[in-house]
Amino acid sequence: MGVNTKYSAVIFDLFDTIVDFHYSKLPLVTVNGTGVHTTGRAVYEVFSAQYNGVDFERFYDVFKTSFEEFEELKRSDQREYPNMERFVLLLKNLGIDPGRDSAELAGRMSSAHMNTLRLGMEMGYQSRGVLDALHGKYRLGLISNFDHSPTIRSLIGDLNLTKYFEAVIISAETGWRKPRREIFNKCLDQMDIEAAEAVFVGDNYEADIVGAKSAGMDAIWIRKKGATQDADTTLPDHVITSLPEILEVL
Ligand SMILES: [Mg+2]
Repeated sequence: MGVNTKYSAVIFDLFDTIVDFHYSKLPLVTVNGTGVHTTGRAVYEVFSAQYNGVDFERFYDVFKTSFEEFEELKRSDQREYPNMERFVLLLKNLGIDPGRDSAELAGRMSSAHMNTLRLGMEMGYQSRGVLDALHGKYRLGLISNFDHSPTIRSLIGDLNLTKYFEAVIISAETGWRKPRREIFNKCLDQMDIEAAEAVFVGDNYEADIVGAKSAGMDAIWIRKKGATQDADTTLPDHVITSLPEILEVL
């Protein structure tokens, strides 16, 4: 690696770029006779302490469909909504109206979900080496689509990543999700750099590549197995298959 003089800054996506998510680390739960790694049981325990009469199978079914509905809403609006809203929606879809306690219960369900989900988050085994190689040569930033910022802030602290990043931008705090240019601009503003000086690195074609290019940045796509890109739309500036390959570009 030398120093690519075109760029003064490298901005990263978080999940599946620097931090991996392992569903196999989530609790194993039996649903309709099948083993599933999920946060659903932990959330159900919080729920069922307050409401009995809904069995786990039914709860889990609505837990999944509410999640899909919530994700679709976020995707279509390109907005980020607080994670607890997913559980407000779940309660509604179960036909339960806890009245003014709704937010309180949904908040506790969200905490149980996040604490359990955290078990699956681990630093990619090559990530620290890459960050060490770039740190000091480039200014580094991070932009993550995630609906619960305390989880990201504590994860970054726990993994000892704070020192690498000048800016950590989380969709839960900006209200916009990648690929919206607003979230990229927020990071550029915070680092006080121009889009042309920065290159973005991420694995999600739509969120990361289309998003970064629309904000005027160059983009490096970590193309994971099976990932596709729209045939005639935005092209990444570089395509790699694993994070350490960025050292050949930078
Ligand atoms: Mg990602």
